[in-house]
Amino acid sequence: MKSTWPPPSSIVVLNEVIDTFPARKVKTTIHLQDSGLYIEPEGYSDHGTADEFDSSIVILEVHEGRLRVLIWSDINEEEPTHTIDLEGARRSARKDYEPLIVCHICSSPIDASTAHRHQEGWVGECCWDERLRSSE
Ligand SMILES: [Zn+2]
Repeated sequence: MKSTWPPPSSIVVLNEVIDTFPARKVKTTIHLQDSGLYIEPEGYSDHGTADEFDSSIVILEVHEGRLRVLIWSDINEEEPTHTIDLEGARRSARKDYEPLIVCHICSSPIDASTAHRHQEGWVGECCWDERLRSSE
């Protein structure tokens, strides 16, 4: 995608997510560029932008090969107040894990590799007795 100015953008109206809270809507422009995704809520800006203009206060970008989010949460600060590296959220970063299962009879956490299927659940070595074994 070639950079253009103004970049292609979309306008969305963000609604309050808690329905018991007084309704508030924030019109937000999202600029899509090959250098990043720029989020510009109406009435919000950064330190260096003139008061009559909104500015992107959230940017999603790739920097030195790493996906990150920059956030300006304080208009009085020149630099981003938050820089969040997102590389830990890559699917490839997920660690293998054994799902936790519990014994259907005593509720103790049990080793999935030695658990026995029984009725709607699993039974661990803790409770796997002759009676259950004969019911297999
Ligand atoms: Zn048990």
